[in-house]
Amino acid sequence: MISFEPTEDQKLITGTVSDFAKSTLAPRAREFEAAQAVSAEARRAVHELGLSLAAIPEALGGQGLGLITATMINEELAYGDPAAPFGLPGFGAYLIAAQELGSDEQAKALIAPFAEPSAHDRFGAVAWSERKPNRDRAGFVTTAKKVSGGYELTGAKAFVGNADLAESLIVFAQVDEKAGWNGVGAFVVDKQNPGLRVAGRHQTLGLECGHFGEIVLEAAKVSDGGRLEGRGDFIAACTRFFAKYSLIVAARQVGLARLAFDVSREYCDIRKAFGKPIGHFQDIAFTLADRHMDAESARELVRRGAWTWDAGKDLDKCLLATAQAVAHAHQVAMRCADDAVQLHGGAGFMRDVIVEKLMRDAKQMALAGATAEQMDQLAAAVELGLPLDPALIWPTPETQAVLT
Ligand SMILES: Cc1cc2nc3c(=O)[nH]c(=O)nc-3n(C[C@H](O)[C@H](O)[C@H](O)COP(=O)(O)OP(=O)(O)OC[C@H]3O[C@@H](n4cnc5c(N)ncnc54)[C@H](O)[C@@H]3O)c2cc1C
Repeated sequence: MISFEPTEDQKLITGTVSDFAKSTLAPRAREFEAAQAVSAEARRAVHELGLSLAAIPEALGGQGLGLITATMINEELAYGDPAAPFGLPGFGAYLIAAQELGSDEQAKALIAPFAEPSAHDRFGAVAWSERKPNRDRAGFVTTAKKVSGGYELTGAKAFVGNADLAESLIVFAQVDEKAGWNGVGAFVVDKQNPGLRVAGRHQTLGLECGHFGEIVLEAAKVSDGGRLEGRGDFIAACTRFFAKYSLIVAARQVGLARLAFDVSREYCDIRKAFGKPIGHFQDIAFTLADRHMDAESARELVRRGAWTWDAGKDLDKCLLATAQAVAHAHQVAMRCADDAVQLHGGAGFMRDVIVEKLMRDAKQMALAGATAEQMDQLAAAVELGLPLDPALIWPTPETQAVLT
């Protein structure tokens, strides 16, 4: 039976995170934005709360609290500042990728450094996107050529979270060009690898305190042991990785949507027109009611999506619930943030009010992992009973043509 009531542990954790996010992240959101980084002090404080390894199983060195708890944590952090989780080490895609794609030994080795006391300064990255996708064949342009004792990676990746900060990167590359999306591999590339070059940081519309950038691989040598094979079923492992990471991003969209709604409701109570609060005009009251419904429904779908994974449901059920949750959360966050700007009138456009930032952050977050359109496509494929085509999984161009 599904219970919508958080456990006592979850209440304690979310209460602590919520207090922290409101007292430490929210008042400094503009400072992080201007500095294009979350301050070391805030990163240290989050690390001391011990949150980043929450969803990682205990056997792999995490806390084993499950994906539901991880979505709750990310939602609360985002309620303080939706951009901040993108600037916090350990909250990105890397740990989920290590967990899902590595063998137990590989995963433990990749995750362990994030539990160290100094880990507030340690970032990881996962690189799948490419600036120039392949037009001639299915698969990544970046290749991994088999050489004696390992692989040589050559290519370029774009939009990579933490590209310039990461000490270790998990890079997707084409091992077998003829096998299309079935011929992809994942490889661990260390920052010190002489074949790896960080090719600059993107300047972005929102989420400024997150670092997004490009990397270039020039015959970067990775040993055989640096290939992550997903415990035998690489496609299923990649699916779990992208689905779970997208759910975490969706949880941040829920936090953003709640914040946009709460700020708007408060403003509509204070701002008066024709002698009464603007929230008492029916049009605005209905908008507020609808956006509240949006935020609540997005939260429930994200929780339900996370629950399917924690409960060990069939992959199809997990994917459908995840795709619905992610697609809905992206749309909801954008509606809530857009209406928040509108309800604030001219003030909504000004930098001294948070809502303009929420609109920019929501837009950018909707492109951070799988997009709403890509998730619609995945949901439709599951509903139609199509086999789990690897072309459905990677959120990159050329992969999303399964239903055309
Ligand atoms: C904040 C942020 C963080 C990111 N982090 C990382 C990272 O850490 N590592 C990394 O490798 N990449 C990262 N990315 C890249 C991100 O995964 C991609 O930008 C995203 O998946 C969309 O892919 P694309 O940009 O290639 O768009 P495209 O795939 O070219 O899509 C273009 C548009 O078409 C839509 N579309 C695609 N397929 C279909 C379809 N079948 N039907 C209808 N519409 C469709 C898309 O939704 C989108 O609106 C990040 C991006 C952002 C903005």
